[in-house]
Amino acid sequence: MMLGLLLARQGAGVTVLEKHKDFLRDFRGDTVHPSTLDVLDELGLGPAAAAVPHRDVSELRTTFSDGTYRVADFGRLRVGHPYIRFMPQSDFLDLLADAAGALPTFRLLRSHEAVGLIESGGVVRGVRAQGPEGPVEVRAALTVAADGRNSILRRHSGLPSRNYGAPMDVLWFRLRRSPDAAEGLDMHFGAGRVILGIDRGDYWQVAYVIAKGGDAKVRAAGLADLRRQVAALVPGLAAEVEQLQDWDQVRTLTVRLDRLRRWHAPGLLCIGDAAHAMSPIGGVGINLAIQDAVCAARMLARPLRNQTLNSRTLASIQRRRWFPTAGTQLLQRVAQRFLVSPMLASSKPSKAPPPLRLLARHPRLQALPARIIGVGLLPEKVQGLTPGRGA
Ligand SMILES: Cc1cc2nc3c(=O)[nH]c(=O)nc-3n(C[C@H](O)[C@H](O)[C@H](O)COP(=O)(O)OP(=O)(O)OC[C@H]3O[C@@H](n4cnc5c(N)ncnc54)[C@H](O)[C@@H]3O)c2cc1C
Repeated sequence: MMLGLLLARQGAGVTVLEKHKDFLRDFRGDTVHPSTLDVLDELGLGPAAAAVPHRDVSELRTTFSDGTYRVADFGRLRVGHPYIRFMPQSDFLDLLADAAGALPTFRLLRSHEAVGLIESGGVVRGVRAQGPEGPVEVRAALTVAADGRNSILRRHSGLPSRNYGAPMDVLWFRLRRSPDAAEGLDMHFGAGRVILGIDRGDYWQVAYVIAKGGDAKVRAAGLADLRRQVAALVPGLAAEVEQLQDWDQVRTLTVRLDRLRRWHAPGLLCIGDAAHAMSPIGGVGINLAIQDAVCAARMLARPLRNQTLNSRTLASIQRRRWFPTAGTQLLQRVAQRFLVSPMLASSKPSKAPPPLRLLARHPRLQALPARIIGVGLLPEKVQGLTPGRGA
């Protein structure tokens, strides 16, 4: 949506396909970080974003058996928005879709699922999709795969990828939230499990992190056992968790961490999770995907306008976005290996690991994780991409 909006602002003809009829999936992330809020400001969408119900949170805290520790302080960042904004991603996408929909060269085809690539002479010429009225073909000078971590277009492209693995999956469910509950993100680390509560106003979106492939075991133990485990780790949810009465209320999300070796083929570019599936650690995947889009728009605008797009342009997008992507994934892999895996394997309540205790003791250090999470390793600016005419 972001790349579509930016290219349409340049006058390029853009068609975005979305397989669902709306963006109302509750299993997307929720966080909009300072770098993305800056991009919205640059686009003049800051006031519209501020009008959407949201919660701004200026610190991240985690609770272990030996206490609660502050690990990131966004208030220490010298940025326009020194906080993480919690906003359902469906609202964020609606905002972008409304802005793009006002542009004459943009169209969004909802309920259209891309099912394959149109190729000829070794070049991707567009996509085949399944729409409400039947099969559709969309031909284009450039096809962008931004279809997430289970990207069908990536699969059809045959581009080689490297899978780094993830030690966890996530059970995802909602619980009512009382108005006097803690605000923002509530993270609890316990024996063999981690619980994250994402404050969505009148309800908690709960992420119950389990060992990879442990879904069947949790379900076999029964819903009563799940309720007991949640209440034991987060006593503040003991009453609310009784609302879980049916497994239909619980969705299992499979976590992946991988990266394409090459993000492009003639006529095709992969961005976001389609190029590099992100672990939920740090909640940075949305913002990285947005930064890919902003970078791609800047580099694509002129070649698309002049009809000089070639593989070199696509390769230069990958080159620029490789370091922030590989660097962020490396940090996620370190956190998976030294923090999440031992905790999921442990049968004893977890104490805060020494690096987190060090962070909590030295508040100035909390600016570092805040920077990595909030701004990222290479934030992108829309700057220089002024609205213009194009093809
Ligand atoms: C449990 C969990 C929690 C997370 N929490 C956070 C968080 O809080 N903050 C954060 O920044 N990141 C979070 N992440 C990571 C984040 O969700 C992803 O990195 C991010 O959504 C990637 O954005 P994207 O646009 O590339 O893909 P997606 O957000 O997955 O978007 C892909 C879009 O393409 C559509 N689509 C898919 N297939 C097709 C098709 N064939 N045809 C047409 N449309 C299609 C989908 O419906 C979707 O709208 C989390 C990940 C997990 C697994």
